[in-house]
Amino acid sequence: MSGVNTFVEIAVIGSGPGGALTAALLAEAGKEVVILEKGAHLPLTSCEPFTIAEMTQKYSHGGITVAMGRPAVSYIEGGSVGGGSEVNSGLYHRTPSDIIDEWVKKFEIKNLTYEKLIPIFKKNEIDLTISYVPSGQLPKASLKLHEGAQKLGWNSIEVPRWFRYESDGCGVKQSMTETFIPRAIKAGAEVISYTKINKVSPKPGGWLLTGWKTVGLDFTPFELLANKIFVCTGATATPALLRRSGLSSLAGKNLHMHPSIKIVAKFPEKVNHVGMGVPVHQVKEFSPRYSMGCSISSPPYLSLAMMDVKGGQEIVDSHWSNMAIYYAMTTGGRGFVNPLPLFKDPLVRYKFTSSEVVDILDALVDLARCLFAAGATEIYPAVQNSRQIRSVDEMIAFRNELEADQLNLMTIHLFSSCPMGENRQNTVVNSFGALHDHDGIYINDCSIIPTALGVNPQGTVMALARRNVEHFLGEE
Ligand SMILES: Cc1cc2nc3c(=O)[nH]c(=O)nc-3n(C[C@H](O)[C@H](O)[C@H](O)COP(=O)(O)OP(=O)(O)OC[C@H]3O[C@@H](n4cnc5c(N)ncnc54)[C@H](O)[C@@H]3O)c2cc1C
Repeated sequence: MSGVNTFVEIAVIGSGPGGALTAALLAEAGKEVVILEKGAHLPLTSCEPFTIAEMTQKYSHGGITVAMGRPAVSYIEGGSVGGGSEVNSGLYHRTPSDIIDEWVKKFEIKNLTYEKLIPIFKKNEIDLTISYVPSGQLPKASLKLHEGAQKLGWNSIEVPRWFRYESDGCGVKQSMTETFIPRAIKAGAEVISYTKINKVSPKPGGWLLTGWKTVGLDFTPFELLANKIFVCTGATATPALLRRSGLSSLAGKNLHMHPSIKIVAKFPEKVNHVGMGVPVHQVKEFSPRYSMGCSISSPPYLSLAMMDVKGGQEIVDSHWSNMAIYYAMTTGGRGFVNPLPLFKDPLVRYKFTSSEVVDILDALVDLARCLFAAGATEIYPAVQNSRQIRSVDEMIAFRNELEADQLNLMTIHLFSSCPMGENRQNTVVNSFGALHDHDGIYINDCSIIPTALGVNPQGTVMALARRNVEHFLGEE
């Protein structure tokens, strides 16, 4: 489908958790829906999870991009049909109720409470079969973090996932290509992949979408008219699209994320094996200031994490089965997304206050404390010129030498670049995702989450998206 004379009732731009759910529920309500996605349409099984092949096929910007700042933060976003849900770990949290209360006050959000979200959470949890790892299959590296926290008397939990387990214990992650995308198609929606929308412009009776269809090195101009549009292109692309289209000067000025710092730990016993699976324990003792977890720790990921250690690759080669990667996830900082003329992707900058840098350093020391309590014999913090640390006291001395610029921060959780609410000073869309001052355009992705949550965000993205679609359908 292409050509300016083609007219659809609703175009959903972007097919991650926000866009896929939006498209499916609208199509199931009888709307004519077209989903436009810049990436490929591939099944979840098109490659092994957490591999280089997956990065090439399913990540935006070919993998990792950097938010400029001191320290800089590298970030990862999904870039195929299904968005981040295709490449993520699927760990699930509901939105914390105290965070919702803060948003309602600061951003003046109408009719939102934790209690009102409960039926919405429940519908998503049924649709995406939220489950715990079957007993006996919990990864050892993940249990190590739990053990350390328990020894210190810290709150540590096993987190459920968007996962469907069969009776034999095998399971499938419930990404969007396993759930809402097939549902949308079954209800009559069309998915147009490899189609990047660069600009949306108001026209009589609707919106003109313009962009490019790209397959390999071939670029074809793409145009479509839609009566209404839902922009669901994620935390960096959504504000860039709005700004490029001249629709909101506040878009992109309130980006938040979960800047995270990692430590590689080595234990006397084996904690890792090929295909170890997704670690599921998180330490919530210091949440929302910071929390801790275990990362995917396959040998290639360990090699990457040890790049700043002299002789790191030899250590990984000899000891990888006794090693795993852990992270401390913080909530500080604020970012800015600016589209640049002639550049494909926007410039992202991220700033920390000095107390937010102290939070990161405190988080690093507490993560080390937890790993030593779990029996780690040596750890390697993810900082430039890292070295072997053998005790908490050594870690504290090392932390006191560290400069902010040395921290290797990364994130997989970005949001808040177009916050929702009725306060026009600090919001881009109203309490239900409708763009201020324009008719027929809605945002329904992680951009509308007002601030950092302190927990994995997909549960919140999908709860807010469902709430907004139900409101939209109620008003139609
Ligand atoms: C590696 C990784 C691990 C994660 N782990 C977890 C986890 O365990 N639990 C959890 O809750 N969250 C996790 N997350 C975060 C979660 O995946 C995101 O919060 C969620 O995907 C955001 O959904 P979204 O719909 O807002 O945007 P996205 O998922 O980013 O989807 C946006 C879509 O829009 C497309 N797009 C962008 N620009 C355009 C354009 N101009 N035209 C057309 N299409 C466009 C993109 O290709 C993408 O498919 C993880 C993320 C990553 C990357």
